[in-house]
Amino acid sequence: MRKYQHPGIASTPSGNPSNNRLIDSIRKRLLIWSQTNAKDYPWRNPVEEWHGLIAEILLQRTKVASVVPVYERFLARFGTPSELAVASMEEIEQIIYPLGLRWRAPLLKQLGGYLTQSGGKIPRSLTELQTLPGVGAYVAAAWLSIFGGVRSVIVDANIVRWLCRLINQPYDGETRRKKWLLDMAESFTPQTEWKEYNLAVLDFTMEICTSKPKCERCPLADLCEYGQVHLSSNTQN
Ligand code: SF4
Repeated sequence: MRKYQHPGIASTPSGNPSNNRLIDSIRKRLLIWSQTNAKDYPWRNPVEEWHGLIAEILLQRTKVASVVPVYERFLARFGTPSELAVASMEEIEQIIYPLGLRWRAPLLKQLGGYLTQSGGKIPRSLTELQTLPGVGAYVAAAWLSIFGGVRSVIVDANIVRWLCRLINQPYDGETRRKKWLLDMAESFTPQTEWKEYNLAVLDFTMEICTSKPKCERCPLADLCEYGQVHLSSNTQN
């Protein structure tokens, strides 16, 4: 099995001599794609920063479309962290019920308590953020990079699938913990414009590089090993 070589892609169909240049091309194309395809979810421009944290917690292991009405209902009911902190568990459960995530209700209530104490302030470090109720490694990284103004590398199941397809590498549930994959995600995440890049990747992997990838209309097709194989086999059939 061919291994990904940090800091670039091991090989490409086009034989690009510079891995860094290749990564740069992929990033640029994603950002261009995003200019006309970015999703307009209500949490993308939150009124208060804790709203983004609520969104990230609700988005875990759920379909984005289901989260939109729940997120709006949640914030319409809980205008401040203290209102969330004193709400009954039953009411919080009822609001998030459509997501099937009842176990999140006590964590959200505790988070309301934390935010009430902190005056709505949210820590800017991955380690500190993960001490908050309901905030794991993914939520912490996603919140920091998208809402907190801090560069962070985000890796979810869709992103693992996309990165592995770029180098035509098999993947499974454990791949997201592999060092080579984390190194690859790190090298793709830019030093500036990380927010725009992460949002573009999230949208792209939900819209184009999905479980059934739409390679025929993918802006990265000529830079992607899986796409090249897939498209050439379609041409031969
Ligand atoms: S070419 Fe296909 S597999 Fe590769 S990134 Fe695009 S959609 Fe995904």
